[in-house]
Amino acid sequence: MTFHVYNTLTRQKEEFRTLEPGVVRMYNCGPTVYGRAHIGNLRSFLFADTLRRWLEYQGFAVKQVMNITDVGHILADADEGEDKIEAQARKENKDPWAISRGWTELFHKDLAALGFRKAAANPKASEHIPEMLEIIEGLLQKGYAYQTGGDVYFEVSKFARYGRLSGNKVEELDAGNRIEVREEKRHPADFALWKSDKQHLMKWTSRFGPDGYPGWHIECSAMSRKHLGDQIDIHTGGEDNIFPHHECEIAQTEAFTGRAFASYWVHSKFLQVDGGKMSKSLGNVYNLDDVLARGFQPRQLRYCLIRGHYRAPLNFTWEILKESAAALENLDDLVVRLRKAARGEGASPSADDGLEAVGEAKQEFEAALDDDLNVPRALAELFKLRTLVLEGQLGQSAAAAALQFVKKSNEVFGVMQTEEELIGDDVQRLIDERQAARKRKDFKESDRIRDYLLAQGIVLEDTPSGVSWKKKG
Ligand code: AMP
Ligand code: ZN
Repeated sequence: MTFHVYNTLTRQKEEFRTLEPGVVRMYNCGPTVYGRAHIGNLRSFLFADTLRRWLEYQGFAVKQVMNITDVGHILADADEGEDKIEAQARKENKDPWAISRGWTELFHKDLAALGFRKAAANPKASEHIPEMLEIIEGLLQKGYAYQTGGDVYFEVSKFARYGRLSGNKVEELDAGNRIEVREEKRHPADFALWKSDKQHLMKWTSRFGPDGYPGWHIECSAMSRKHLGDQIDIHTGGEDNIFPHHECEIAQTEAFTGRAFASYWVHSKFLQVDGGKMSKSLGNVYNLDDVLARGFQPRQLRYCLIRGHYRAPLNFTWEILKESAAALENLDDLVVRLRKAARGEGASPSADDGLEAVGEAKQEFEAALDDDLNVPRALAELFKLRTLVLEGQLGQSAAAAALQFVKKSNEVFGVMQTEEELIGDDVQRLIDERQAARKRKDFKESDRIRDYLLAQGIVLEDTPSGVSWKKKG
């Protein structure tokens, strides 16, 4: 089987084919940096990271871009109203640039703590104003956009495919649903590409006037084009991004380039907390620090947020996190047991016992992820292996093969502790072995042991009273 992914645009699972063989261009709508990323945001971003990891597992070179929205995202995702970052700046009596800078830094720290692979670029909207204006000019020239005063709007009725992604019909789009009726608009569903507002704190001069700032949607069209080109393979976001954000991105980019923007539009479902919407008034908008304060590790949160299917709603409670942490502990234990069985401890007498089952688990694991990134089904294969090793059904070779596979599976999940933690007893045993090797003048072996320990962060020191050791760094 090859990778199949659910495309919101066609409403079906499709075989994944890249524009360029072996290369995936992927754009992820990133955070609006007016506050700390909450666990719901993190779920969306972790989905993108897991998808990338699965593509890399299969051998694709993934060019991943995740933007930082630091201007122009209006409260309620609409055209009119306060900029989220400026609203926060006013509330805190701070400079909006300081707000976005601070939260961007923290965002990167959160990603690092949660084991995200680094994107090729994390472009900031505020640093791509010329690229946005280039598209806006092009849209005006082609007749897809119109200027009224200092504002420029995209005229949705000019773009026949508008509504295809979200299923909305232009005729039915009226006030409400993140749509404003405004006098200067030709149709209520027309959306802002560029706005002028003297009160706006972050603003740029253009031929439309001195107080301009971009609409939220044009930012992603411009950043994606700048960093990945006119056409990309995958565009992701949370389900709320489907409309208006991604619908509008498609209209702008495709009207401008005359080509299909992204081959696959992939959206993750929202995270719920305590079975409902996260909300400040309920006090359940948690972030990574809240999770750490309760004594959990980042990787336990990571596991909790990736273990469900990305297209199924996921519920978060502290109890569920506790249960996830316990399940992850079982996966760590699987690694420990496989390592022992590979050395013969608790292994079935015949080395090849269970080898076929291990091969099947790997095949099923890959088939599950090939099937629209079915993480829960893939994880189930790892737990099957745990049962086999617990019951002593794996021979030494089978356990070694299983260990290799489980470690590889962790390239996709990034949650397990797969490196052997050397404990004091192990180190002492190795030191004794090294001394014995030196005595018999087997310096190759003694050097090998020293280098192995060094690789584990253990430094040996020869002292008159014997060999002592310490942890590096
Ligand atoms: P924002 O910072 O509001 O621009 O959102 C960043 C990303 O987080 C977007 O892709 C949203 O779709 C996603 N997101 C926001 N809330 C949730 C949630 N409760 N569950 C999952 N994803 C979310
Ligand atoms: Zn976006």
